[in-house]
Amino acid sequence: MPQHDIWYETLHDNFGQYFHVDRVLYREKTAHQDLVIFENAAFGRVMALDGVVQTTERDEFIYHEMMAHVPIIAHGQARKVLIIGGGDGGMLREVSRHRDIESITMVEIDAGVITFCRQYLPGHSAGSFDDPRFHLIIDDGVNFVGATNDTFDVIISDCTDPIGPGSSLFTSDFYQGCARCLTPGGIFVAQNGVCFLQQDEAVHSHRKLSHYFSDVGFYQAAIPTYYGGLMTFAWASQDPSLRQLDPATLRARFRAAQLECRYYNSAIHTGSFALPQYLLNALSAPR
Ligand code: SAM
Repeated sequence: MPQHDIWYETLHDNFGQYFHVDRVLYREKTAHQDLVIFENAAFGRVMALDGVVQTTERDEFIYHEMMAHVPIIAHGQARKVLIIGGGDGGMLREVSRHRDIESITMVEIDAGVITFCRQYLPGHSAGSFDDPRFHLIIDDGVNFVGATNDTFDVIISDCTDPIGPGSSLFTSDFYQGCARCLTPGGIFVAQNGVCFLQQDEAVHSHRKLSHYFSDVGFYQAAIPTYYGGLMTFAWASQDPSLRQLDPATLRARFRAAQLECRYYNSAIHTGSFALPQYLLNALSAPR
């Protein structure tokens, strides 16, 4: 076998995944985090921050379709969307496919991620950084949601794991701020880790979100390079019916949105809210 450099993910202490590095395209210690983008024969270009896979060309569509279309289709009348994080541009690409959306604000802590992903992962943003509806703010998401006078119909926290700068996006202050700047009928979603390996993170998020939202839950999808099983997405709103829309309504809205997706469809939308019993048990366990 030809010799390869190997990149090891360091999210977990005593096990993990690795990638053959065919070519390092960029490496930079930005002011906030250690960024690397490299090429791998199986997953295409891979971007990692602080030793954790953030996104790959091959499987990014699963994550971005599920975190964008589930809340926007469920909302039904979203006009203003806030993306926290999301510097690679994949979430922005998927949100901007909804023609009825009038404004998309991104609050990203690290301008370097946007700069390098525009250059080395152009398929992620696919030109959406130039969308006239797009507004970029470079800041910590927790600062923005605590201070803004703006309001949003959908908030998507497309953040890193709760290590380094991402930690602030798993705090009560952040969740309170999001509850504050959501419009009535608004929906908050956030990446919340692979529940089989990061179950405590889901339990902690559920507990904190429940102080500010009357309906809190999770939905899921399996994303190959988010190693270890189902990726859980936190869901929070003040209206439980938003999580229980009937299939006919979902199908009608999906058809009206005229989206061509590779993962999302109405059946996947409904089925994604089915959770493994071990997670349900952990969420309902006495605190
Ligand atoms: N899809 C990835 C995942 O599921 O882990 C997340 C991808 S995206 C690259 C994560 C983004 O969150 C990065 O661009 C990072 O700079 C940004 N980020 C981390 N902490 C942040 C914070 N406190 N406020 C705003 N953006 C933050």
